[in-house]
Amino acid sequence: MSVESDNMRGTVSTARSRPAVLRHVPYFIAAAVLVMLAASMQFDGYVLNILLQATTFSIAVFGVSVVLGLCGQINLAQAAFFGLGAYAVGLGTTDLQMSYWLCLVAGCLVAIVAGAFLGMSTLRLGGHYLAMVTISFQQIMTLVMINAIWLTHGPDGVSRIGRPSLFASSQSYLAFCVAALAIVGYIVWHLPDTKLGRAMRAVRDNELAAGVNGIDIFKTKVYAFAICAMLGGLAGGLFAGGFAYVSPDQFSFAESIVFLTMSLLGGVASPIGSVIGTGLLILIPEWLRFLKSVPGLYLAIYGLFVILIIRFMPEGIWGFVTAGFDRWRTKTKAPPAVKPLQLKPATTGGDIVLEVKGLSKHFGGLKAVDSVDIAVRRGGVHALIGPNGSGKTTTLNVLSGLYKATSGTILLDGTDITNMPPHQRTAAGLGRTFQNIRLFRSMTALENVEIGAERSGNTMIGTGGHAALTERAMEALTFVGLGNRANELITSFSYGHQRLIEIARALAANPTLLLLDEPAAGLNSTEKLELHELLKRIAAQGLTILIIDHDMTLVSEAAQHITVLNFGRRIADGESMAVLRHPDVVSAYLGSE
Ligand code: ADP
Ligand code: MG
Repeated sequence: MSVESDNMRGTVSTARSRPAVLRHVPYFIAAAVLVMLAASMQFDGYVLNILLQATTFSIAVFGVSVVLGLCGQINLAQAAFFGLGAYAVGLGTTDLQMSYWLCLVAGCLVAIVAGAFLGMSTLRLGGHYLAMVTISFQQIMTLVMINAIWLTHGPDGVSRIGRPSLFASSQSYLAFCVAALAIVGYIVWHLPDTKLGRAMRAVRDNELAAGVNGIDIFKTKVYAFAICAMLGGLAGGLFAGGFAYVSPDQFSFAESIVFLTMSLLGGVASPIGSVIGTGLLILIPEWLRFLKSVPGLYLAIYGLFVILIIRFMPEGIWGFVTAGFDRWRTKTKAPPAVKPLQLKPATTGGDIVLEVKGLSKHFGGLKAVDSVDIAVRRGGVHALIGPNGSGKTTTLNVLSGLYKATSGTILLDGTDITNMPPHQRTAAGLGRTFQNIRLFRSMTALENVEIGAERSGNTMIGTGGHAALTERAMEALTFVGLGNRANELITSFSYGHQRLIEIARALAANPTLLLLDEPAAGLNSTEKLELHELLKRIAAQGLTILIIDHDMTLVSEAAQHITVLNFGRRIADGESMAVLRHPDVVSAYLGSE
């Protein structure tokens, strides 16, 4: 058994890694050619300046594409981070006579710290508040650059900035910047396929689902901000060395908007888009230079240009181009052969997996859940039923940490999880699905399920790396009958199949306890039968299930134990048949007869 699994793991990983290495070779050849061109072409000063600006700005825009494109967070202060790096190199190499390299690194570090700090203090807010706070940060930085004259030389700026002796000529410095662009671009290009990158995409697509699938949302956002800021700082440092002069107006709020526009214009989701957008937004003003004699006309046409592109290519220019490619690409890749899915829920702890005591959740005066006790037995199916609005979903939301309990305690396998954030509860062994399906909609079925499989503490993955993750996800998808459609985007699945993918995502994590919120809702009768059969196969492997459902046939057949809620209170609890005959339950469901 173990030999067989090792073999399979071996085939999967070599099949993945060998072409991967080859895939990267052309990129580095192309990058090397570009660097050599930059070093050897005899550009005149004007072209050189434009190229230098485009290269350094592109790196800052990469940062925007990470924080906004990958993680979905708005940052309107990228010029401030750019300025931090630029001033670090500017002041470091002139006033402090330090080495350029040291200053470049210091600039990146200062930017990282500022970015992470900004992230930490603001990300709990999100949305408009986040935008406001980043703007405030930007304005404060501008004020410091202008007014802290003792430090920054004020509006005069810093001139005669040094650059490394190795790249003393502008031409060689440009080649160095192109090399930096290529390396950073490579990393940003591959970031979405790393654990952190997947977490960022999950947070962007559906924050609630990301949390209950084991992703630390706060940490992910702070990392995204720190990376964005670091790229801003790096770009600023390179810029300062290139132009040998910096002043506060180069790092204003307006410049932050320019970085954002560059990213949106080219395509926020990709580093290629960043380069295209940056290049265009630097070139358009040059092309329109002849209009500058007519006041106002230049800005109007420039603005119209940008608005038209964004209006007709909402995914940016690169997004528009790749959407064209996608139509021609066949997506049906044969999935690798898989073993049957093993659900090996933890068996340590006592007979009771989940013990809920006196749980309440009040929304102002509304007692959505009112002092409820539930004890879920290991290895059984436990149903939570009740009329609409009786507090079932709210109970699940409190259990999985989306809501904070007003009072009461929740023990999972003896561990008190009452005050844990969602991802820690997931790590502790809680899995769930949602009443309104919450999948990561920009991803494929396989990628969705991989995120589930990736939860920390999933003993079925161990240290097997990405190959083991893919294998586990394929097993879970095959288990729900969708293994042959693994590489299709979520949007191409029917509602019923999306439910199955959500269940597969929860199963891949190998939970101790699975919470299902009305899995049969919205399914047709065939799909309901399939779901019923799937639940039997899950229960047969000994996984404990707490299920909310309205279908009394399903509930009475599948569940050994039922808890009934009405107006947030527990009105009955016990062995299935007895509960369903309980007079209070009958009257809650059927009226008073
Ligand atoms: P069920 O899932 O049993 O149909 P819910 O748990 O969704 O019921 O809702 C229980 C009650 O709590 C309802 O009256 C609902 O309007 C209320 N409720 C649920 N979520 C919120 C919320 N976020 N804010 C205010 N009231 C809520
Ligand atoms: Mg509900």
